Amino acid sequence: MSRQGTIKGAAVGAIAGAAAWAGALAGLGRRTAGALARALYPPVCIGCGSFMDGVFTIADAGAATFEQIVLTGFCPDCVTKIKPVSQPFCTVCGEPFASQNGPNHTCGRCMENRPAFATARAALIYDGPAKNAILSFKYARRMALARPLSLLCQWGFLRYYALAAHDLALPVPLHGRRLGWRGFNQAWLLMEGWKKDARFPTIDRQILRRIRNTPVQAGMNKKQRAQNIRGAFAVSCPQKIKGKRILLVDDVLTTGETARECARVLAKNGAARVDILTLARVEK
Ligand SMILES: [Zn+2]
Ligand SMILES: [Zn+2]
Repeated sequence: MSRQGTIKGAAVGAIAGAAAWAGALAGLGRRTAGALARALYPPVCIGCGSFMDGVFTIADAGAATFEQIVLTGFCPDCVTKIKPVSQPFCTVCGEPFASQNGPNHTCGRCMENRPAFATARAALIYDGPAKNAILSFKYARRMALARPLSLLCQWGFLRYYALAAHDLALPVPLHGRRLGWRGFNQAWLLMEGWKKDARFPTIDRQILRRIRNTPVQAGMNKKQRAQNIRGAFAVSCPQKIKGKRILLVDDVLTTGETARECARVLAKNGAARVDILTLARVEK
């Protein structure tokens, strides 16, 4: 990531600077300080880095439209380029079909080799401004992106699943070494807003563990990814998932091999049902 990444880094850094300013100037009155901070550091679009007049804030992702949620982090131009996953798609793995006609049905791959998960769903197509924002969130540690991206993840959850359909929500875990380097698990942060809301399943980030550090999967094909990820996960307390309905959450679904392997391990350890929710999925 290059020059564009650096420019965006500076811009998002400026947002953090604005928050510090706002705090320091609290004595002047919150409103004055806020107005001054906005004038000095206008908000920046998380998809393209351009300055924005203002950001949309929402209290409840459940009551907001898709466009309103996107506007909490992206500029109006990027909003038009962000694509929610559209039907028809595979009833199991969620992969959209090329043809826009006809009902949802099970794809050939899922018919042949049924995964251990019941369904996999994603909010967005991993492309354009959404891809830029997710990459910045993941690799450039831009924490300012967590809130709008977690709102989009919530939107996906509410779109596809019934509120009482899961007992537990688990983030796809990172290996300790990668967690140490990155400093946070992006999948867990995508559920940040869920903790305060009793409608969402209970989040647990200890149950599913990554016991083997695997090489980064970017650039691998489906078969290489499957081999790479095999045996990478373990369940720390099987009694906690016995008979439970589990929602597994991750940022991006690429070939689905990580999701398949996590679901296999959870099912083997007694989970009654596993569903996968990702913020985005790669378009084939
Ligand atoms: Zn933008
Ligand atoms: Zn499928």
